[in-house]
Order: sequence, then structure tokens, then C-alpha cells
Amino acid sequence: MKTGLLYGIVANSKTRVRCVFCGVYIPKANKCIEEHTNGMKHKENIDLMSENGLTYYNDELYCKPCDVYLTGEDSVAAHLEGEQHANWVAAMDDLIEGEFINIDAYLSTESEEVFCEVCNMKVNCTLQNIEEHVNDILHRSNVAEKLKPLNGIFPVENDDELWCKVCDEYIENTARSLLEHIDDDKQHVEWFMDIEDLIEDQEISIQDYLKNEHEKKAFCNKCQVEIPCNARSLEEHVHSEAHLNQFS
Ligand SMILES: [Zn+2]
Ligand SMILES: [Zn+2]
Ligand SMILES: [Zn+2]
Ligand SMILES: [Zn+2]
Ligand SMILES: [Zn+2]
Repeated sequence: MKTGLLYGIVANSKTRVRCVFCGVYIPKANKCIEEHTNGMKHKENIDLMSENGLTYYNDELYCKPCDVYLTGEDSVAAHLEGEQHANWVAAMDDLIEGEFINIDAYLSTESEEVFCEVCNMKVNCTLQNIEEHVNDILHRSNVAEKLKPLNGIFPVENDDELWCKVCDEYIENTARSLLEHIDDDKQHVEWFMDIEDLIEDQEISIQDYLKNEHEKKAFCNKCQVEIPCNARSLEEHVHSEAHLNQFS
């Protein structure tokens, strides 16, 4: 990326230039231009561009997600706050939430693709492609695989079922019923909400409990002790004197 003194600066009139990124006018004097391009605001806008899919080429600002060239008085911030861009972000967030899809390389404009971490593959970044990908049966089952150890779900001897340790319940061994259980089963969802609420910012880890079929305890990293992994014991622990007085 070219980042010289005149990066983002275009001629405007005899006496002033315009910063395309910030959408401001600057007196046409090297000192003023330098002051502006070294300024905080200007640098923030360059960062915003590289986090949101905007590029600057041939004196023009281009937004890749929206596939539009920014014209006239538009600035980086004004475009990002505008309806068209916000709609794209909302639609994309909706599609990729919980799907293990990484969009950073696309937004930094290094790539035209997003990376699906569970399928270990790249997908061309259009809303339509991604929608197809996340609904694909292979992707759904890869997501299901990934979610098992995060949700206390284990295989059982007969291959037809899975066991949810959290609910002590058997479920059908298909991606669909697994995802339904994780997303919609009241008991399952509430267990996670309660426990996550209790351990938030408490340095208590339940990863081993969820990952290992026979592990019965959560671990408090602050106190270096094991705690039975249920809401009542965890609640007692986080309110206990020992835990409260422990400095980490
Ligand atoms: Zn600027
Ligand atoms: Zn845009
Ligand atoms: Zn995938
Ligand atoms: Zn469950
Ligand atoms: Zn503790």
C-alpha cells in the first residue's frame, strides 16, 4: 500500500486540496497537508478502510462489499455509517454468525474470499455464495463436529445416537438434530446461559468438563481449585470468601 504524503489527497482548487478519506479540505501548502496526513483522524480513517474493505486506487475510493466508488463529498466514515454499507454488514453478520467463517482477509482487501475454518476452504465472498455455503450439508456437519466438544456432546457405542452430558440426554446422531439440540433445546440453552453468566470474568474454565466425557469438575484458575460443574456449586464458589479474596 502506498502511504506517501499525498496518499488520499487530491487537488481541489488553486488554493486547497481535499482529503478523500476524511472528506475535508486542506489549504494547498505542504505544511498543512503534512500536518493533516500525520494527524490522528487521518490515520484512523486509513485503519477503518483496511478493516472494512475499502481501497484507494487512482484517486478513487472503492468499497468492495458494496461494489461502489465513493464520489463527491463522501468520506470513509460517512460511507461506513451509510445505509448501503450497514445493510451489507448486517446481512453478512447474520449469515456468518456461529459458522466459523473468517472474513478478515476479505475486509483487509488481501483476498476476494472468506475462509471457512470448519471446512478448511475458501469461499468467494458474495452474500449468495456464503448463504449457499453455510446451508450446505457438508458445512453443517462440519459445524456440528466442531460444536460437539464445546457443548458436552459425545458419541455412544451404537452409532445412531449422541449423548449430551449437560442434559444427560440422548439425541439422534445427525448434524440436524445435534444443531437443533444445541440451538433450541431449552434445558441445554439455559444451562449454558446460567453457567456462562456465573463464570463470566471469574477465570473459571468449563472447557475440560465439556470436552472430556468423564470430567466432572470445572476449574478456577484464580484459586487453582476444582469445583463440581453445576450452577449451585459454581455460584457458591464465586461468592465464597476464598474466591473473592484471591488476587490474580
Ligand atoms: Zn485525511
Ligand atoms: Zn460499503
Ligand atoms: Zn464451511
Ligand atoms: Zn444438551
Ligand atoms: Zn475461585
